[in-house]
Amino acid sequence: MISLVIPLKDESSSLEKLFKDIKTIAQSGQNKWEIIAVDDGSQDDTWQKLQQINITPIHLKGIKFSRNFGKEAAIYAGLSEATGNPVIVMDGDGQHPPSILPEMIKKWQEGALIVEAVKSKRPPEPFWKKICTAFFYFIFEHSTGLDLRTATDFKLLDRKVVQAYLNLPERNRFFRGLIKWFNFPSQTIPFNPASRTEGISSWSFTKLVSFAWSSIISFSVWPLRTLMIIGILGVLASIGLLSQTLYSKIFGNAAPGFSTIIILQTLLGSAILLGLGLIGEYLSRVYEEIKGRPLYVILEQIEK
Ligand code: UDP
Ligand code: MG
Repeated sequence: MISLVIPLKDESSSLEKLFKDIKTIAQSGQNKWEIIAVDDGSQDDTWQKLQQINITPIHLKGIKFSRNFGKEAAIYAGLSEATGNPVIVMDGDGQHPPSILPEMIKKWQEGALIVEAVKSKRPPEPFWKKICTAFFYFIFEHSTGLDLRTATDFKLLDRKVVQAYLNLPERNRFFRGLIKWFNFPSQTIPFNPASRTEGISSWSFTKLVSFAWSSIISFSVWPLRTLMIIGILGVLASIGLLSQTLYSKIFGNAAPGFSTIIILQTLLGSAILLGLGLIGEYLSRVYEEIKGRPLYVILEQIEK
């Protein structure tokens, strides 16, 4: 059986077409299919649509969260409910074309444990989003060594990979990054992401920034390390300044000492503040992990 995990937040308008396309694909082959649709706190009638929709012979499992827990939580919930092998994760907004599903399955049958659908070109996006994503990928790649530029959340995973993912102990998850991190044998398939067919992207600017920030922090200690380097450089510079000041003092012309002190103060002061802030950042992650709250809370469930 092939499982499809689809996170849904306010996707009522694209659901029917998506499910119809999937059904066509499913019926063209011999496999059994199930869809695990996770309603991540939609405000529209996504859940009602899920309850009404009929996609037999595909088995449909619907999970409704009690509120919006975010896409990562929705993916996690879907993966834990999926019983098939392989499991395919895809967006519910029509940007991930079901037409490449058979090709993904074929690559899996040929031995790949992960089949990634990668964007052959980015869909038209607002300019600010382009700049921000480019910046994010640059930082992410340089701090973690993982290139996510073309990676998407559209992935086929062998049961082994799903199990490994579910077994990870951490709570702050970044699906795309973690799947790369496993380094399981993987294959890629290019696709042209369609523009969103209906609805609007639920990522606001602040949400994107906080997502990017949290992905980087949860993946690397690079920000801390940078701070340490700044600290070390600062200390070296201060030693230089200090010896110069001492030299001037001992050999008589001690007048410009005042500015040196100001420079030292600001340099060290800012480094310390920055450092404290960053330590707080990591500490807050530890705090989040330690709280051990569930990743999501289910309000309702359907199965048909
Ligand atoms: N999504 C979700 N919870 C959220 C935001 C998004 O489950 O809080 C789902 C959304 O319904 C869609 C997928 O995640 O199926 C991708 O979302 P979106 O298209 O908004 O993001 P983008 O394509 O810009 O990455
Ligand atoms: Mg989208």
